[in-house]
Order: sequence, then structure tokens, then C-alpha cells
Amino acid sequence: MKAIAVYPGKPNSVHLEDIPRPKVADIPDGKGVLVRVLKVGVDATDREINDALYGNAPPGDKYLVLGHESFGVAEEVGPNCRRVKQGDFVTATVRRPGGSIYDLIGTNDMTSEETYYERGINLRHGYLTEYFVDEEEYIVRVPKGLSHLHVLMEPMSCAAKAVYQAYEAQRRMKVWRPQRAFVMGVGQIGLLTTLVLRLKGIEVFSFARSKRGTLSSQIVEGLEAKYVSTSETPVEQVVKEVGKADLIVDASGSSHVAFDSMKALGHNGVLIWASITGADRKHEISSDKINIDWVLGNKLLLGSVNANREHFEMGIKDLALAEMMYPGVIGRILTNPVDGLDNYRELMRLLVEEKSALKVYMNVAG
Ligand code: BGC
Ligand code: ZN
Repeated sequence: MKAIAVYPGKPNSVHLEDIPRPKVADIPDGKGVLVRVLKVGVDATDREINDALYGNAPPGDKYLVLGHESFGVAEEVGPNCRRVKQGDFVTATVRRPGGSIYDLIGTNDMTSEETYYERGINLRHGYLTEYFVDEEEYIVRVPKGLSHLHVLMEPMSCAAKAVYQAYEAQRRMKVWRPQRAFVMGVGQIGLLTTLVLRLKGIEVFSFARSKRGTLSSQIVEGLEAKYVSTSETPVEQVVKEVGKADLIVDASGSSHVAFDSMKALGHNGVLIWASITGADRKHEISSDKINIDWVLGNKLLLGSVNANREHFEMGIKDLALAEMMYPGVIGRILTNPVDGLDNYRELMRLLVEEKSALKVYMNVAG
């Protein structure tokens, strides 16, 4: 069957690979789920893999099959599957366990090992192909009523986890009732995080460079959050007007913005870094000022990446609520479909060149 792959370490090496079709029996103990792929989304991580800044092939293979944002239908399930049945719409988690205690209890997103295994990203093949098989443990049902949001399940799991982690960490405060949040960046993670925070009733300011009027700004406003264009209103000015934030999520994809956000966090607050930066840029910060301010203000910095099945389920619940609260708004993220695995060049072209695209995804099958 066809698969879209790269040679990790070699820039722009995206190509079609011919790979064997998996079988449900490839997974032991009757726990396999064979998924017919319907759609796969691509994101900035795929762009970094395409630029050879990130990603590795599975041991023994020269290529890495791309794609970690999956949506498909369970075509066949093993005799010992209990949660997923044939015909269900499904998505799949990305990370697979290593050997640490966290990996052994189903929280492989929190592995303490340096080496991590991620389908479509690091050391494991991804989903940009016709079929994949995996253990039921890593397969998540998608409600029929949300099938129109297909490839957003994985990015949503990352947004849901990031906010959940912040609340978990903030139990240190005994009482913590965040009123105001800043979200840096209005790509898919920025928008989905804005949603999660709005569903908690928090006042959200979502920052990006572009002036108002873009699709992202409309989605932010559709979620009843405030869109701030930093080319018109710098973050400091918003801080002057409304005060610092109780919670900040950096989803800007820029380490510069991630560090600068430290200046906008209020006392006892939490700053979550949620985007990866595979390059090697340098940026100067006012380290003394930030240091004293963070010590005196009991502030917390939290890195969050990846998500396990529970976070996928949380994200799916939030998407369901979102469709009740803000009908049709989230679906507007799904901007750029490409039909058919053969059109992999167009998929990558849109991902790299189309600056207005919020979500490029492939319709693998109807
Ligand atoms: C994926 C995560 C993954 C991260 C780092 C993101 O694009 O959505 O699942 O953990 O990249 O590899
Ligand atoms: Zn991703």
C-alpha cells in the first residue's frame, strides 16, 4: 500500500513509499485494531521533519512514514478488544511506551526516558498511509457527531492536556481560580487552547502578529475571546490595561515569544510552554528582572507535550461541548484539504508555503 514518507535528516525528501499492508493479527493477544485511514492532518512538527530539523526513522528503516494526526474507521478488531468495535470512527494516540514507570502505567506521554517513540515523528511509522494497526489501548473512539472535526482530535488532546496539567500543578496553591489567560499564537494549538480556557469561563486574550480580520482572529472572536494583534498592541500594553495573566499558554512556535511571555505572568501564576522549536535560535532576555519577579511571585513554568488516551477523551468532551456553545466555529480551523496520497507534493507545498492555512490535511479515503 501507499505511504507518504521522508528520509529523516535529508531536507525535502518527502516521497511515496510502498509498504506492506498491516493485519489485525500483527498485534498479539487479540488486542489489535486495524484502521482504514480516512484523513490525516499535518502540522509544524511535520514541517520541521520535512526540513530535517526533527524526527527519526524506526530502527532498520531508512524512511519514516509521516502523519500523527489520524482519523479513520475501525475496519477489523481483534477478538479481545472491548472498547472499540468494527465500524467505529477512531483516532490514535501518538506516543508509544518506553520502559520507565510512567510508560508502564499508561502515561507514556510523561516518560522519564530521553528516548521517546512517537508514531509519524520519532522511531515509529505514522498514519499517512492506507491502513495502520495498533493495540486497542492506543485507539480512541471519535463520536459520530464529531466526525466533521476528524483530524483535530490529536491537536485537541495536546491543548486539553496542557491546560489540565496547569490545573494539576496549581493544586500547590490550595486555592487557584484563574480569571485571565493569555494565549500566545493562534495556530491550531493556540486556537484549541483558547477554546479549552473559554469553556472554563476564563477571560482569554489570544495574541498573534497579524492584524484583526484573519480567519484566526474570527475564530478567536467566535469563541468570545479577545484577539490582540501584537503589531498594533504589544503584550506590555495589554498588561498595563488589564493586568498580568494568571495563566499563559505559549503556542507560538517561537522560543523568543516563549521566554518573553515570562514578563506577562502574574503572581502565583503558571506559564505553559506547549510548542517545540527544532532550530537553534538565540534570544536575549532581561534575566535579572525576570528572576527576581518570578521568585517573589511564586511563578511556575511548565512544559507540556504529547497526550495519552485520557487527554484525548478530555479533548473530545470539550469539542462536543464546543459544538453546543460555539456551533461551527472550531470546524473553521480545517482550512486546506488535499485529496489522495498521490498528491503528497501539494500537501507539503501547502504546509510550507500557504501562510493563511490553519490546518492542512489529506483526504486519504472517502
Ligand atoms: C505532536 C505531539 C508530539 C510533539 C513532539 C507534536 O506535533 O502533536 O504528539 O509529542 O509534536 O514530537
Ligand atoms: Zn502535532
